[in-house]
Amino acid sequence: MRRGIPSRASRPTSLYPRNPSTGCSGAGNRNWPNRIASRRGAPFSNTPQTRMARLPSRQYNDSVSASKSPSSTGTDVIVVGGGPAGLAAGIHLSRAGYRTLLVEKGQFGGQAGRIDWIENYPGFPAGIKGADLMALWLAQARRWGLKCLRAQVSGLVRQSSFFRIILPNGRRLRCRAVLCCAGAEFKRLGLSGEDGFLGRYVHHAAFDEAPRFRNKVVAVVGAGEAALHQALLLAKFARRVHLLSRGPTIKAHRLLKSRMTRRPNLIHSPNMTVEKIDGHRRLERIVVRDRVSGLHKSLDVSGLFVLIGKQKSTFPSGKAKGPGYFVAGDASGDICRQVVVAAGSGVQAAMECIRYLEGWSNPHENS
Ligand SMILES: Cc1cc2nc3c(=O)[nH]c(=O)nc-3n(C[C@H](O)[C@H](O)[C@H](O)COP(=O)(O)OP(=O)(O)OC[C@H]3O[C@@H](n4cnc5c(N)ncnc54)[C@H](O)[C@@H]3O)c2cc1C
Repeated sequence: MRRGIPSRASRPTSLYPRNPSTGCSGAGNRNWPNRIASRRGAPFSNTPQTRMARLPSRQYNDSVSASKSPSSTGTDVIVVGGGPAGLAAGIHLSRAGYRTLLVEKGQFGGQAGRIDWIENYPGFPAGIKGADLMALWLAQARRWGLKCLRAQVSGLVRQSSFFRIILPNGRRLRCRAVLCCAGAEFKRLGLSGEDGFLGRYVHHAAFDEAPRFRNKVVAVVGAGEAALHQALLLAKFARRVHLLSRGPTIKAHRLLKSRMTRRPNLIHSPNMTVEKIDGHRRLERIVVRDRVSGLHKSLDVSGLFVLIGKQKSTFPSGKAKGPGYFVAGDASGDICRQVVVAAGSGVQAAMECIRYLEGWSNPHENS
């Protein structure tokens, strides 16, 4: 028996009836081998809660081998996106005995896996590193046999009673239902040169990049909680952090605002718009305009963090929307973007998906 996977006898029986079409019950996915169980992951903090789990590093993945694709073994549900919504949905579906494949184009854990410290997720009084929290979720998903694949979903086609997920290499995966948990995308400034510097000198939320800017001058554009969160972290490393907001104030949690006053190297400049990004090979300066006085100013910066909001992900759902297609987490366009909200929404979508697979028409009946 693999470590971390309960023996058949000790596995809890499902609350869900056996699915007549798939033969699956809550007793686990016997025909759905769990190849991810033996993988090892990235460095991991040694807290009591997290000692048993690891968030996989980049080399982890493609756990669905080419020899036995999900279409040949039969997949019930494909979850697109491995952030909190996708992982929570994946845990719920695989525990209920549905053969579930989670497809993630980047890092498992999604946006949450990159947050330096999460203080508002219930159950962790002292807070927890985003990567550690997501590692626990992945370990739980592994325990129930969720399969994971590192790939970008580039298309989705509905074919009568099933879907085909299209991968960039042309490979197609067949399933009975799809859960879109692809998150939301960061808005860009729309300035020339922005794309060229993106990922190197221009970032959105990138907590892991903060130490790279030790003793440097950086700017954060935005006025919300995410912008302030990022600016506070950068202020621990950088010599100076310019927080540039379009409006006169920062709209964030009081606690975060009070922390800002304790960081003298974090300077808030209100009523500013970034007009130009400039540099040869590397970012050297930005030009900002004071929206009140109309004056332009050049700021020498080594890094620019753009956190001016998010928009729905461009996940190519095409004409696939309708029965059997579910959306959860930030991808749903909900403005309450939090890990706990995404997780709840993922579980809700998974429960509705189960009702769909079982042929129970009204998702709000018999709850
Ligand atoms: C700076 C910042 C700080 C934050 N701090 C907090 C905090 O302290 N507490 C808190 O509760 N929340 C915080 N949040 C919000 C929280 O991170 C998000 O609400 C949460 O991660 C949303 O989960 P999700 O699963 O819906 O989406 P995401 O976490 O965005 O995950 C979506 C996943 O889908 C993948 N994906 C997208 N398209 C495809 C595709 N075509 N094929 C395959 N995979 C795809 C992406 O790679 C990604 O991994 C913060 C957010 C930011 C930006």
